[in-house]
Order: sequence, then structure tokens, then C-alpha cells
Amino acid sequence: MTTTLSLETRPTLPPALARLDELAGNLAYAWDRDIRRVFWRLDHRLWLECENNPKLVLRRIPQAVLEQFAEDRDFLEDYYRALTSFDTYMSSGAGADVDAQLDPERDLVAYFCAEFGLHESLPIYSGGLGILAGDHCKAVSDLGVPFVAVGLLYRQGYFTQTIDAQGRQQANAHTVDFDELPITLCRGGDGAELRVGVEIGERDVQLRIWQARIGKATLYLLDSDVDGNDEADRAITYQLYGGDSDTRIQQETVLGVGGVRALRAVGRQPTVWHINEGHAAFQILERIRERVAGGLPFDVALEAVAAGTVFTTHTPVPAGHDIFHHAQMRWFLGRLLGQFGVDESVLLGLGVDHNGGDRFNMTTLALRGSRFHNGVSKIHGGVASRMESYLWPQVSATENPIRYVTNGVHLHTFIARAWTRLFHDSFRGWRMQLLSTDHWQCIDSIAYDRYVAVRRQLKRDLLTDIAARVRRQLRRNGVPETIVSKATRYVDDGNSKALVLGFARRFATYKRATLILKDEARLARLLNDPQRPAILIFAGKAHPKDQPGQELIRKLYETSMKPEFIGRLIMIEGYDMLLARNLVQGCDVWLNNPEYPMEASGTSGEKAGVNGVVNVSVLDGWWDEGYVADGHDGPNGYAIEPIDPRYWYSLLGDEVARQKRDEEEAKQLLGILEEQVIPTYYGDDNAGYAPEWIRISKNSMKTLIPRFNAARMVMDYVRGFYGPAARQTARFTADDCAVAKTYAAWKQKVRQCWNGVGLDVPQAPKILPQGAALELSVGARLNGLSPDDVIVECLIGQMDGERFITERTCPLQATGDGTGFRASIDPLPGLQHLRVRIRPIHPAMSHPFELGAAVWA
Ligand SMILES: *Cc1c(COP(=O)(O)O)cnc(C)c1O
Repeated sequence: MTTTLSLETRPTLPPALARLDELAGNLAYAWDRDIRRVFWRLDHRLWLECENNPKLVLRRIPQAVLEQFAEDRDFLEDYYRALTSFDTYMSSGAGADVDAQLDPERDLVAYFCAEFGLHESLPIYSGGLGILAGDHCKAVSDLGVPFVAVGLLYRQGYFTQTIDAQGRQQANAHTVDFDELPITLCRGGDGAELRVGVEIGERDVQLRIWQARIGKATLYLLDSDVDGNDEADRAITYQLYGGDSDTRIQQETVLGVGGVRALRAVGRQPTVWHINEGHAAFQILERIRERVAGGLPFDVALEAVAAGTVFTTHTPVPAGHDIFHHAQMRWFLGRLLGQFGVDESVLLGLGVDHNGGDRFNMTTLALRGSRFHNGVSKIHGGVASRMESYLWPQVSATENPIRYVTNGVHLHTFIARAWTRLFHDSFRGWRMQLLSTDHWQCIDSIAYDRYVAVRRQLKRDLLTDIAARVRRQLRRNGVPETIVSKATRYVDDGNSKALVLGFARRFATYKRATLILKDEARLARLLNDPQRPAILIFAGKAHPKDQPGQELIRKLYETSMKPEFIGRLIMIEGYDMLLARNLVQGCDVWLNNPEYPMEASGTSGEKAGVNGVVNVSVLDGWWDEGYVADGHDGPNGYAIEPIDPRYWYSLLGDEVARQKRDEEEAKQLLGILEEQVIPTYYGDDNAGYAPEWIRISKNSMKTLIPRFNAARMVMDYVRGFYGPAARQTARFTADDCAVAKTYAAWKQKVRQCWNGVGLDVPQAPKILPQGAALELSVGARLNGLSPDDVIVECLIGQMDGERFITERTCPLQATGDGTGFRASIDPLPGLQHLRVRIRPIHPAMSHPFELGAAVWA
């Protein structure tokens, strides 16, 4: 037998450049372009070869080059500037608005998510959810929120995508070398690697803990690929969203249960636990288990845990909600479920949704185990309230506790360097003014020529990149050169006049990537107008198991090769964060045409909009809030009106109606392009960048930057969720969970009595002279509850058809013996309607309708 040894030589950093290691080890480079520039300057080509990965550059760069730069004045100046601003950033504390909500001595937010999209050099993301989680961490670091994040480290990450000559998506699994990632292994005091174990089935699966630095925030990543685990267990964390449902439940056990144990192992004690999408909801079980092991009864432990837990749901699409069979729960989590001191049915019951049966719904667990819940846009908050309303059966969806925080994007990551340079020259202190709509009026003061020069340059950079990508893609597939040159002739002519439209995102079917192809003849005519040409660029991955999604890619590729579309319509492979940044900066128009109301939020349009790219989008998700039709300076983009939103629910399963809706919305989309977008962009002289177009583009920047950046989003969470959850944790857990104990006991009493609670028909006159007070009284049956356990309230309002619109709410006072309630009320003028209800109330409640109980008279 022959032994082969492998050996890699690595350069040693000269003392003058010693801190390059630190810069390469903090994902601040994902948004700090001065840091990226330092690595790029070392060796442009190597930087590209290493796919923008600073740590890899430092491993591969020749020693001689380092020695040379250690003496290079000009380089050292860049290096010291990057270091100084990094040091200033790292030592800055939280603002007063964060400190008012979270006590840095006491509070810590732990944020759990299955994917994190921070930078292309850490490929542990698939799409919008991951990028959003990454942006959340970055903004948290900027704002100085006490925060740690927890995720999984996937050896194969998400697949990289190529598209073959037939337009078929090839999902390529790459095994990454963890040594090349911007992460370090967590070690104990003795230097040995830190491990935590999780019981899965009959095995004790060992996990390593890695740590990534994101500015001031820390992300812990778990990995089951360690010596000592058997082959199957080592594979648990191989692939993001890979494998089957059994893989998924094991991954989620690692994330949820292992994640809590990892935080304990590294000595972090969160007071607020944010579950970002249901994948991480098993952390609730682990935290309850900890408290049960500490001596609390299950129901008290549940209250103590839920009081400090925030849950964000991200999609109405069923595939986004994991559901496991009870048999799977028993098989994989059986040993864990035996540690709660309650019947297994109680634990499985936490995941039973409105469909009942033996299915365990992770979203349901997350909602039952948290007291603060939200969707990700105004529309989605409403949709989620309706979808999950079974958890608050006596409460209308509009009143149940699901609220919303509209997603935002991390501005520094996605805004082009050309813009930040311009801001730096022209708008002092802009970094401190991210949330000020007044401040961003300053966009108007950018001179037309200067503004257009930036937009033009960004488009030119994009087209150069696209041309290179198309050539690489087609040549690899053996496409003849004559066709390659046809396919690149419009993006490659250095002419940045043509209108460039972009559409890039995951190819989930509800996003309707091919909607614009409903009328191919009309589209071809628009794109090929010799006076006013346009180019349409598509990019995006479909999940490897999503055949219909892959069919969309194939269809777009096939269309892009037709004579009337070649060069004008482009389907580009390999969508990732780098390509995403280029597209959202360089296009003129950003398209989004999802099926209402499936988008939840969407964020790529926000990234585009803050760069002055004009959105043309269905009024769904964030755009319903962001679109300004007729502001003081005119519109900030274009809106496709969904065909009768209310009608959507009746469309489920109705293919004919769906088709009809798609056709009508496609007609609207093409109409907007033909009659508004193209003429406005080209102007009367067909030169492009007409003044009216620039006005819309500036409106986009100035209205969207302050409202849809991640700092606004994180502050919404801090004020509305993290602060309240931290206070609830403090309250519930003080004195050995005294409040949790009384509250759990009270809830149990209410649940036992509630079935017999009721109100009689209220007594009130039908007509009152104006100015007189309304004397209202109602008899109540409390069925063993005391008047202090309930509130009786009168809602005064108007009827809108069948719907009751509340205008005022007045509480009634209990009369002596608790069998009656009365109030003296100032009525509204004219005709009005009254409704009276009774609901349980307790000072420890996180939300007035937390129990989902309310009975009407
Ligand atoms: C922003 C982003 C997304 C999300 O795009 P949507 O339009 O919100 O679906 C997906 N993938 C990448 C790489 C992104 O940067």
C-alpha cells in the first residue's frame, strides 16, 4: 500500500498586515466595501477566483505579494483606513432607543433560523428567508442590539445552479471546506472543541459549534459531521432543504434542541428568543424541558418559556410550513418527549392544527409556544391572522394576536458603491439618518447629470457582467459561436441606452416568472422596437424537487433562444447574492408579479428601489405599502392591481379562474410597460433617462430608503416585540417563576370554567335624547370565575353590511355580587350599534386575546 500525504503551504502575514486575518474573519466585509477593497487590491484575479472570499485569498496569496504590500504606502493607507473605520464601528454602543427596550446588562436576543444569507462566501442560504435573516443580523450589529443568532452549518450548502443546453436546471452539490469559510470552531477552556449532544431516535448525536462574526453580532452554527457520529447522523446537516421529511425533522431537532444546548455551552443566557420561521420551533420544547428538569410543572414551564418568545411566520405557501407525523415525532423525538412529566399526547397536542389528526405542525407549535407573533407585511399579517385563527377560536382574525413587521433590507449591503460615494460627498451624516424620511429628500438635490451618470455606470457594469456570464454558460453547453454572439449582442455593445428589465428570485410557481410570456408576440414587439429597445434578464433557482419551478426555467431558456427573443430575453444561471447585488443595482426596472396574496413580503424589489431602480410590481407584500401613486412629487414606480383580492380565496382549486386572472394581470403588466414605462423612460427624443423617468427613480430612492431598510425593521422588532418579550421574561421568571405559576393556574381555572360563562341580552333604551348618557346593564354567568377574572365591554360602532366596525370600546363595572355589569356611556351621535362581550383578563397577559376566549351577549 502507498500512502499519499497532502500538504498545503500557506503564507504568513507580515506583522504590518497582521490584522488582515481579523478583517477576513468578520462578515463586516459583506457590507463594508473598504474592507473588501483591501483584499481586492492584494490580487484582483485571485479575489475573483476565490469568489470574493477574503479568508481564501489569504490562504492562497503568494508570500512575496504580501511582503511587497507590507511596504506599499498607498496600500497601507487603504488598509489603515479600513481598520480605523472597522474599529470605530466595533466599539460603538447601542442608541438610546435600543437601551430603552433592552438592558445590555441583562437582556440578550437569540435569533434562530434554518438559513442565513450574509455573503456569497458563506453559502448557507437558499433565498429570501435567508437573506432576510442575514440582513436582520447586520442591522442588529449596526444598532448595537444585544444579540446572538443560531443556525446550521451545511457542508454542501444550497446547490449551485447551471442550466444546460436544453434549459434544464442542473443542481450541483459542492462540498465546502469549513476551513475556507469565515467561521471558527468554538472551543472550551481546555482548548478542546466544544460539543453538545442531542438525542435523536436511539442515538446521541454529537454536534460541533462554529462561530461567525457579523460585525458586533455572533452567529453560532451547528454541524453534525463529526467523528463518533455514524454515517447517517453525519449527513443530517449536509444539505439545506435537502433529503426528505425524516431528514427535515432531524435537522430541525439539531437546530432547535441543539441550538439551545449550544447557547448554554458557550455561556449565553438569552432573555428573548426569536424563532424565524417554524423550522426552529423545537427550541420551545427544549426550553420547556430545561425548566421541567429544574422542577417546574409542564404548564408553568410553558408559560415561562412562551412569555419570552417571538415567532415570525414568513409565507402562506403550504411548503413553508413543516408538518410531521406523530409516528415520526415518536421515532425521532421519543426519548426527548419522555422528559416532560406529562403525557405524550399533551406534547403532541402542541402541534395539532385545525386539520387535527396525527400531524404535528411546526407553525402551530411555534404559535402555542410564543406570545409575540407576526407576519412580514401588512397584507401578510392579515393573511396569517386568518390562516391561524383556529388558535383563537372565539376571536375575529382582525383582533387575534398576529401582528406584522414589514421586511426591510440591509442598505449598506445592497446599495451600490457609486451611490454611497456620492452620499459621502454630498450628504454628511447620512449613515445616522437611515430612518428619516425628511433627510432622504436630499436625493432631489443630486444634479440630473450626476444622477444619470451613476445609473448609466451601474447598468454598464451589469451588462458587462451579464455578457460574460452568458458567454460562459453557452460555450460550456457547446452552443455555436454564431449563436453566442447573437445572444450577447445587445448586452455586449457597451451601449447603456436600452431599457433593462430584471426579474430574479427563487422560481417558486406562485411568483409566476413566465407571466410576461402570456402574450409572446406583444412582448417580442416591445423588446425589439428599434427606436426604444429593451432587454429582459431573468435569474433564479428552483428547488431540486420542484418540477413545475424547473419547468419555468426551461420555458424561459427556450424562449430566450427563439429568433425573436435571442439577445433580448436572457435566462442567466447561477443566481446567488453576488448576481443579486449586480442585478438590483444595474437594472432600470425591477419586475415582480406574484399571485396575490402569496408574496408575504418580497425584498428584492426593496433592494432595487433603494438603488433608484423603478419597481413594476403587483400590489402585494411590501409594495402595497411602498408604492406611492401620486405623492407630492408624483409616483415612485408602477403598480399592477391584483384582480379582486377578496376573490383569491375562491380561486383555490379553480384552474379556469386562475388562468383568467393570470391573463388579465399579464395584460396589465404588458400594458404598463408599453404605455407607461417605455415611453416615460425614453422620453420624446428616445434618448433614455428622460427627466420624468429620473424623477420617478429619485422618488423611489427617497421614499423607499428610509422605510424599507433593515434598521427600520429591527427597530420595529425591538420596540414592539423584543422589549415587551424581555419585560415579560423578567416578570414571569422572577422569584422562581412566581408569576408563571399563578398565571398558569389562572389559565387552567379559566379554561375549566369558560364553557359555562355567558352574558344575557343587555338592557338599553332604543332611543335617547341627545346629550343623555346611555345606562347599560347586562346580567352575567361567571360559572365560578370572579369578576376580577373577566372584563365585560361594550363595543359601539356602525354596520357595514354584515360587518361591525368598532368605533369605541367601553368597559362595564361589576355590580356588587358579580352577576351583573353596568356602565354609563356617552353615545355617538345618530344611529349606532352596540355589542357586548365578556373575555378573561389577567395582568400577566401578553395580549388581550391571548386565550382566544370571548363570548358575546
Ligand atoms: C433578495 C434575494 C431574494 C429574495 O427575493 P424576492 O424577490 O423577495 O423573492 C432571493 N435570493 C437572493 C439571492 C436575494 O438576494
